[in-house]
Order: sequence, then C-alpha cells, then structure tokens
Amino acid sequence: MVKSTALQVWPIPAFSDNYIWCIHDGQSALIVDPGDAGPVIHFLQENRLQLMGILITHYHADHIGGIAALLKATANGASLPVYGPAAEPIAGLTQALMQGDEVEIAAPAIHLQVLEVPGHTLGHIAYFAPAKRAEEQIANKPSVEEPPRLFCGDTLFASGCGRLFEGTPTQMHASLAKFAALPSNTLVYCTHEYTLSNIRFALAVEPNNPDLIAWAKRAEALRELNLPTLPTTIDQEIKTNPFMRCDQAVVRQVAQQVAGQPQLSGASEVLAAIRAWKDRF
Ligand SMILES: [Zn+2]
Repeated sequence: MVKSTALQVWPIPAFSDNYIWCIHDGQSALIVDPGDAGPVIHFLQENRLQLMGILITHYHADHIGGIAALLKATANGASLPVYGPAAEPIAGLTQALMQGDEVEIAAPAIHLQVLEVPGHTLGHIAYFAPAKRAEEQIANKPSVEEPPRLFCGDTLFASGCGRLFEGTPTQMHASLAKFAALPSNTLVYCTHEYTLSNIRFALAVEPNNPDLIAWAKRAEALRELNLPTLPTTIDQEIKTNPFMRCDQAVVRQVAQQVAGQPQLSGASEVLAAIRAWKDRF
C-alpha cells in the first residue's frame, strides 16, 4: 500500500463561526486553537487520528477553552506538548514560544517557525511552516511538495484583520507586514469564517478593485454551498485585503476621507483609520 506522508489540513467548525484546524498525515494529528473540545474529539475519532500535540496562537477563550477537556479525552493526553505564546496566561501550556523559535514535530512531520504578531492581543503568535518535500515511502514515487502554510489565529482574516483589543495600529501594521513578506503562495489558515462581511467592507474601501470583485463572487459561491472560504493565500490578501493594502494610494485616499484628515502620513495611520471605520461599519 502506498502510504503518503503528505500533510492534510482540515477545518473543524466550532461555535458559530470558528475554525479549529487539524493538521494530520492520516494517522497523527495536531490541533490548532481548540476553543471547544467536543467537535475536535468527534473529528479525531471519526478519522481515526491520534492527537500528538496542540498549537495555540493567543489566549482568548474561543481558542483555548477546549485544551483541558481535549487532553483529558486523549489516552496519553497528560504527556502531550501544548505550544503557545510565552507572553500570555494559558493554563496547560507546556512549550512557551517567542519570535524566532522553531518547532520541529516528528509526527505529523512539520517544521514551524514562530512569529510574534501583536495587535489583536499583545502576546499573539503565528506559526509558519515553510515549503518542503515530504518523503514518500515508495522510492519510485515522485515526492510530494508541501506548500508553505501559515496559522495566523485572529491576526489576519480573509479580506480583514483582527480587532485591536490590546495592540496599536502600528503593531498590527508591523505584524501584517511580517505576513506580507512570506512566500506569496503561502496558504493562510484563519480561525473565523468572517470572509463575506469582510468583503462587504473591503468593497466599501475599494469598490473598483477587480481582484476583490472576483474574490467576492468566488466567496459567495463557496458559502452558498456551505464550504469554507479558507485557506486564503498571502498573494490573495495582498491583492484584496484593505488592511494589507495600507500603502496603496487608493486605500490611503479613502482613509483620509473617512478620518476627515487631508494627509495621513504613514501606512499605520491609514490602518488606524480604516480599522476604526470597520469597527463601526
Ligand atoms: Zn481572539
């Protein structure tokens, strides 16, 4: 039997619009941000997957609320690693991570780089898995290319960004700039299905953006079929996400209008203006 070690990443819907992501190789699984244990336990059992560890992006309850129950429901749960931000209070964390840390997990085989991305919360981190070739167990089979992947928590959403509960617009701008510097084909696993409402706002900012208009049609079709609009890609976000387009003249002009300021000097000020507009949109 050909047994691929290629990774799969599946969304587990939770609450009203959260996605808990499951990274697995057909046997071993990692869970990202288990806000609720019930749907995760069900997914792992249904797919006969063994939980090997938990990755946390930030300390909000809808991202960590299921950690204890998930570990309790797992045979060797007490010995599993729980990775997460060093700078946030998270019960059950075993591996505290900071900018520049690297996480090497054997099964499922994945290498993760830790990015500190303050803005939504101050200690928020993201996990970036660079592209790689997965080894096939049969020698004459072509190897499988693993695309680069980003698990960004509530920092970046398709066509939107997280609310600034703790950080400043300058911090969020710097965090999104870290994402923009990743390979353009990076698959981005956001943790909420906010895409259609984000697109409505993005179209208010840029009604004539052809990439955004095309994306709106695709996203609507996906949601009509009750399918996730995620993952998105870095390339698509750079083309359609107003919060990643604060350096564009058209976005700056709209921000100046809504802020009632004739001259916003920097991209962080543009982000502040459109984030404030989105908060009351
Ligand atoms: Zn959050």
